[in-house]
Amino acid sequence: RVVLGIESSCDETGAGLVRLGADGSVQLLADAVASSVDQHARYGGVVPEIASRAHLEAMAPTVQRALDESGLRLSDVDAVAVTAGPGLAGALLVGVSAAKGYAAALGVPLYGVNHLAGHIAVDTLQHGALPERSLALLVSGGHTQLLLVDDVAGRITEVGSTIDDAAGEAYDKVARILDLPYPGGPPIDAQAALGDPEAIDFPRGLTGPRDAAYDFSFSGLKTAVARWVETEQQAGREISVPDVCASFQEAVADVLTRKAVRAAQDHDVRTLVISGGVAANARLAALARERCAAAGILLRVPKPRLCTDNGAMIAALGAHVLASGTEPSPLDMATDPGLPVTSVSVTDGAAT
Ligand code: ATP
Ligand code: MG
Ligand code: FE
Repeated sequence: RVVLGIESSCDETGAGLVRLGADGSVQLLADAVASSVDQHARYGGVVPEIASRAHLEAMAPTVQRALDESGLRLSDVDAVAVTAGPGLAGALLVGVSAAKGYAAALGVPLYGVNHLAGHIAVDTLQHGALPERSLALLVSGGHTQLLLVDDVAGRITEVGSTIDDAAGEAYDKVARILDLPYPGGPPIDAQAALGDPEAIDFPRGLTGPRDAAYDFSFSGLKTAVARWVETEQQAGREISVPDVCASFQEAVADVLTRKAVRAAQDHDVRTLVISGGVAANARLAALARERCAAAGILLRVPKPRLCTDNGAMIAALGAHVLASGTEPSPLDMATDPGLPVTSVSVTDGAAT
């Protein structure tokens, strides 16, 4: 069976096609993404109205591109999956409306699914089925969470999360401080490769003995970077952007991997999946590989293209939900900008 996945929670319009095998395996057929990121760059963050309009314009052409890429036709689609939340209200509405239209026109089931669970599910396209139980470190622009995944299509529980900024948000804010372009992840990643990660000893949030073991805090780190840059500039010293980036990145990767490995050990889980936009970070993956190897934990990180927002992740999750026998979403399903990761799929109609 072929599942079309539609993503529009933020600034990427994604359409993906996944084939669900009789054995429950998933295979990536196409992954088309159109981004409005350039239109937001000068505002230093995503502007919701601009994102909604861009989704509206890009939706149909992006779905067509996915079909072209796969050599399939719309009539080959057996189910439609769409991001129901979390995300920007107006942006979500465009994707969900489109998905309802495709599902109704094709006479196939509709599955409203969770964007965050999609970030985890996408890994099955690259590394196969997840084991019975795994730990997911979800690090994206809006979320930073440690999750126990018993079933990516149904049972996900939270172990810890950030108490302030998300990891990706910290990257974006630090990039702004350093006059690097938005989004900040890729340019900081590139600059950091040229710098010394031990040049500046930035704080590791919530790592004290009395701090919550699996929660994160990145707002203090961002402030520490701002203060350090300000102090250096006031003293008339030239700052090394690569050193600041490398040291900041080291602090983020250190805390994320340290806590993820500890949570895996404490919960007796042997597999760690790192996903979400920040999982595209080179240093995070390298340090995680090192520490997981030392702890005897199997590490899975999707390739960078699959880490950031795309439609394939929604198609993959939709395929797993379909395979699990969960009932489809009603055609009057609502979007939920604050959908918690524990709600993997939406099975009720418009609540309001
Ligand atoms: P959410 O998934 O929480 O709703 P989102 O969909 O906006 O948020 P993603 O697209 O998953 O987030 O990730 C975007 C974030 O990833 C941005 O903050 C961006 O700076 C960050 N990012 C992208 N590439 C890298 C990288 N190489 N290193 C670090 N961060 C990165
Ligand atoms: Mg984005
Ligand atoms: Fe995302």
